Amino acid sequence: MATDTDSRLVTAIEARRDDLISLTQDLIRIPTLNPPGRYYRDICEYLDGRLSEAGFHVELVRAEGALADSDRYPRWNIVASREGRAGGDTVHFNSHHDVVEVGNGWKFDPFGGELHDGRIYGRGACDMKGGLATSIIAAETFVHTFPDFHGSVEISATADEESGGYGGVAYLAEQGWFDPIRVQHVIIPEPLNKDRICLGHRGVWWAEIETMGRIAHGSMPFLGDCAVRHMGAVLSEMEAYLFPLLATKRTEMPVVPEGAKQSTLNINAIHGGEPVQEDDYTGLPAPCVPDRCRITIDRRFLIEEDIAEVKAEVTSMLERVKGERPGFEYELRDLFEVQPTMTAEDAPVVTSVAHAIEKVLARAPDYVVSPGTYDQKHIDRIGRLKNCIAYGPGILDLAHQPDEWVGVDDMLDSAKVMALTLAELLLLPS
Ligand SMILES: [Zn+2]
Repeated sequence: MATDTDSRLVTAIEARRDDLISLTQDLIRIPTLNPPGRYYRDICEYLDGRLSEAGFHVELVRAEGALADSDRYPRWNIVASREGRAGGDTVHFNSHHDVVEVGNGWKFDPFGGELHDGRIYGRGACDMKGGLATSIIAAETFVHTFPDFHGSVEISATADEESGGYGGVAYLAEQGWFDPIRVQHVIIPEPLNKDRICLGHRGVWWAEIETMGRIAHGSMPFLGDCAVRHMGAVLSEMEAYLFPLLATKRTEMPVVPEGAKQSTLNINAIHGGEPVQEDDYTGLPAPCVPDRCRITIDRRFLIEEDIAEVKAEVTSMLERVKGERPGFEYELRDLFEVQPTMTAEDAPVVTSVAHAIEKVLARAPDYVVSPGTYDQKHIDRIGRLKNCIAYGPGILDLAHQPDEWVGVDDMLDSAKVMALTLAELLLLPS
């Protein structure tokens, strides 16, 4: 019985190869660049047409008033549901529809969706229009092959994941779309490779540190106080104390790549002194002692760490510099924070996808945790829904790179895994 179900789904998915290719190409050809958030309405209308045709009930939701939402760049999202018979769970596939800037170095047209040697190229091909197309093919095939399923299948395509997800999943979660009463299983088809299940991600803390000085003429720096030198002392302290400390903190989470199994800190930016002049300014700089210097830090922390402790490490480092350095004044400002999250390996969505991977690929899945965050954070924190993973086709390292691509065979394999997962979760004995 199970074998027959599985083979019917596998055959039906294989028959949709051309459809999967053209759907992926169509999605890549809508250049949903973020920032600023272009063509969001267009991609939602395209998906509305497609999914309504397949018998889904579709709602377009604008994240009115959310961060970055404006009349010029409205934050549009789409949620499509196909109800089966009563008495089953809801399985939800969530993809973001926005893509990052193109950058330089492309050989292919970034919005051409060209197919070469079994790969589809374009911005967003792997991150994550390929995953979106894969989940649509899986869901359509499943509901078409087994219309008597129990529960419901949902597909959402949401805005702004690349810029924090506030006009996308966070908004939908606030509106109750990810309430565990209405949705029980969530799969986010981010490009984590077709044989890996991503259980969660590390935590994030972004902050700004500013050192203060006093402006004076650059020929008499002793009359002022140089904020850049004060920042230099902060950076030396980081090198001597903070980076070595972070390297000693190791996690039990299966984070990939290996280097991200420890706590990390990046200095995203540094600015001090005279502002950079416009390109059309052809003169020399003026001699001034900088009275302000600012850095932005990006601290990624582990599930074993507490965010209060993470912040205290930085504060005590700054206080130490202050104790040793005459005239040292600073401000520390929080910008953004996300708690780490990790779904249990025995959660129902994890075990169902694991069984499906074993059946389709004839091997056990790898369990991984992402070094960075994605929309699972909002589903977890705002939606309070824990039964959530990322699983989808594509190679994560290609995301945001020139000549980004997704493999057609990988998408087909992932579509089979998704369809078999739906069968395990929603085909109940009647
Ligand atoms: Zn992504």
